[in-house]
Amino acid sequence: MKIAVVKERAEGETRVAATPETVKKFKALGAEVAVESGAGASASIADADYAAVGAEVSADAVRGAGIVLGVQGPDPAALAAAAPGAWVVAGLDPFGQRGRIDAYAAAGLEALAMEFMPRITRAQSMDILSSQSNLSGYKAVIEAANLYGRAFPMMMTAAGTISAAKAFVMGVGVAGLQAIATARRLGAQVSATDVRSATKEQIVSLGAKPIFVESVAGIEGEGAGGYATEMSEEYQKAQAELVSGHIAKQDIVITTALIPGRAAPRLISDAQIASMKAGSVIFDLAVAQGGNVEGSKADEVVVRHGVKIFGYSNTPATLPADASALFARNLYNFLSAFWDKEQGQPVLDAEIGEAVRLTQGGKVVSPRLLG
Ligand code: NAD
Repeated sequence: MKIAVVKERAEGETRVAATPETVKKFKALGAEVAVESGAGASASIADADYAAVGAEVSADAVRGAGIVLGVQGPDPAALAAAAPGAWVVAGLDPFGQRGRIDAYAAAGLEALAMEFMPRITRAQSMDILSSQSNLSGYKAVIEAANLYGRAFPMMMTAAGTISAAKAFVMGVGVAGLQAIATARRLGAQVSATDVRSATKEQIVSLGAKPIFVESVAGIEGEGAGGYATEMSEEYQKAQAELVSGHIAKQDIVITTALIPGRAAPRLISDAQIASMKAGSVIFDLAVAQGGNVEGSKADEVVVRHGVKIFGYSNTPATLPADASALFARNLYNFLSAFWDKEQGQPVLDAEIGEAVRLTQGGKVVSPRLLG
């Protein structure tokens, strides 16, 4: 089995889907590995580093490959030389890039979307959303601290005391938990909210204060696989009121709320921004999915009412070396878990196979895309 690692072509993408560490491990499984020239350059991995662990490095890495690895989905036209029915294993953005998924089907390729990995214990080490969100949560706080004209920790100095920054994290999934931990490490006073009541305990365990609507009973906010569901109007109104009062007192707000397959929920309105002190910072981690914050724009610091609002279109790409290392391990953990030594290739089981497979036999087969 030949595994090809492509150079990312999307604008601003700095990551790479395999590292010398994972190439070595794929080779130990008996696979042949080819890496497209320059694939690791923006993640500080030289062609020579791949060659040193036995990869073939060439401009034509895809030729004859049965598995193509990418961070984002490669252009279907660039895969014409791959083996018939080759697997395309990457973050394929199935809802955002539907046309490309159809093109993989038409080309007879089997597209496997790593963001559809089920949230089950045995798949945790294969989950690109978790590994990349964790880094994003960290970077959001670092970037917010960078834009903030004050310090995070309380400092008692001979020239007087500086008070601690107040940071509020909205959405306490993987990114939010890391944002809480990072803001705490920098010395901020941290509070957080989510629609899933299960997060309350996690917020407290990290030393932050939970801000939750208690008045609307019977709402868990948690749907299949631990994902958030869309909330009732009643809940949304109660949450908006509680959060409005709280936001007005914050220096830093980090928003991370996502609902799969839908635009990100709007969490902060222009009126709420206006209630904040000048010099405060809002980091919108959902800006690429439509944004949690009114008026936020990807990769641009927007100033509204003296408040700086910012978010990256691709936050993990701002930490290319670590993001690539974790992404690459996710792909290796996935393929190696199913590696069949006799066949010399991976054979997926039904649970994970059906979850991640988008196309097969010339057709789109994913129920999440067909339904
Ligand atoms: P996510 O990226 O889908 O969403 C981010 C957070 O925003 C979630 O906590 C969500 O509840 C919250 N949110 C959505 N709408 C909101 C709103 N209107 N207001 C406030 N918050 C809102 O979430 P995620 O980071 O992928 O994690 C969700 C859960 O799944 C976590 O408990 C995580 O530990 C779990 N998880 C499990 C596995 C596994 O077992 N393999 C893998 C990944 C995540």
